[in-house]
Amino acid sequence: MKLYNLKDHNEQVSFAQAVTQGLGKNQGLFFPHGLPEFSLTEIDELLEMDFVPRSSRILSAFIGDEITPEILEERVRAAFTFPAPVVKVSDDVACLELFHGPTLAFKDFGGRFMAQMLTHISGDKPVTILTATSGDTGAAVAHAFYGLKNVRVVILYPRGKISPLQEKLFCTLGGNIETVAVEGDFDDCQALVKQAFDDEPLKQQLGLNSANSINISRLLAQICYYFEAVAQLPQEARNQLVVSVPSGNFGDLTAGLLAKALGLPVKRFIAATNVNDTVPRYLESGEWSPHSTRATLSNAMDVSQPNNWPRVEELFRRKTWRLSDLGYAAVDDETTKETVRELKGLGYLSEPHAAVAWRALRDNLQPGEFGLFLGTAHPAKFKESVEEILGESLELPEALAERADLPLLSSIIPADFTVLNQLLLKSK
Ligand SMILES: *Cc1c(COP(=O)(O)O)cnc(C)c1O
Repeated sequence: MKLYNLKDHNEQVSFAQAVTQGLGKNQGLFFPHGLPEFSLTEIDELLEMDFVPRSSRILSAFIGDEITPEILEERVRAAFTFPAPVVKVSDDVACLELFHGPTLAFKDFGGRFMAQMLTHISGDKPVTILTATSGDTGAAVAHAFYGLKNVRVVILYPRGKISPLQEKLFCTLGGNIETVAVEGDFDDCQALVKQAFDDEPLKQQLGLNSANSINISRLLAQICYYFEAVAQLPQEARNQLVVSVPSGNFGDLTAGLLAKALGLPVKRFIAATNVNDTVPRYLESGEWSPHSTRATLSNAMDVSQPNNWPRVEELFRRKTWRLSDLGYAAVDDETTKETVRELKGLGYLSEPHAAVAWRALRDNLQPGEFGLFLGTAHPAKFKESVEEILGESLELPEALAERADLPLLSSIIPADFTVLNQLLLKSK
């Protein structure tokens, strides 16, 4: 697969290079040169297949020239170890639940596939994944790389500034996962990571990689669960399908649109955001004017400058689709709370992100259409909010409950690069 840099189309890379580098020059995103398309017959065949073999076939359409089908299927099997069930919420609406992985959020799909691709590409060469987290991405990265050979993972987070449950989720693993509590805030952690990446000899010596959230391998992995969703829907829903995606950085929506570009029968997508509504306002007025970011209940979508948006625009341009066909809605916290309660009334326990998506869908769906919204996180992941909204207590899922009793293994360091440098050079 050839990809080009959206900021400089002359910079062309292979899939292996794009995965290893993450970003191109001037922080440009990589975008696929060829956009494969399946015939109607092929789509029908794909929809008959099981999740893992089907996903390998889909991914082969992009990266089959760099990875053999056998290896790809093996890697996909190692990454996608949990299901993505479609659960009916009402007669014409269902939720695609993407939160049955080890960290209870959809980022497990992309993170785990990226880990498989990075380790495949680097072969026997040791790599060090160094990343800073304010909570969630760290957990997904830690679990994705946990136990993989020749990989050392070092995750920095601000000491005392992430939720105790989040900390338990990834700071209790041990093995090849090292967690570092920094005496400072998230920006300090990011600055330390940046200093390490700017230190060229250190970078070379350790084989530093950031396992970045804009990595193209994540998006490719996410295409697969849109097919999995359609495969589970009744035949008559297929050409009347409207999909609502709760969006922050717009990676998930990009993947859905790529699935449509491949030929998946989706009539329309809806970009659902919270009050960080740069994209809905842009689609409404044609003006790109990000406000400063506001904290909301659906905090994984508190993004005002969504970094995958250039990929969405490029895809519309390449396919000559019209941006005006993209649905959109912004949902505030009050409405989100009401919606979590309303869904509970329908017998469906959700959390703020999924609620935003359902709300946008409900307000947008036309008679005769079938709606699907993405459940991006397990309700227990947002336990405090959900309990407060519903006025009842939630049980922790087993994966979390087990971790809650394990000791934290993090080292504690000041926000000082010389200390981090020593830690990085000390082999475990
Ligand atoms: C990351 C995240 C989102 C937003 O996904 P993007 O791909 O950044 O748009 C939505 N919900 C949850 C729970 C998330 O963790």
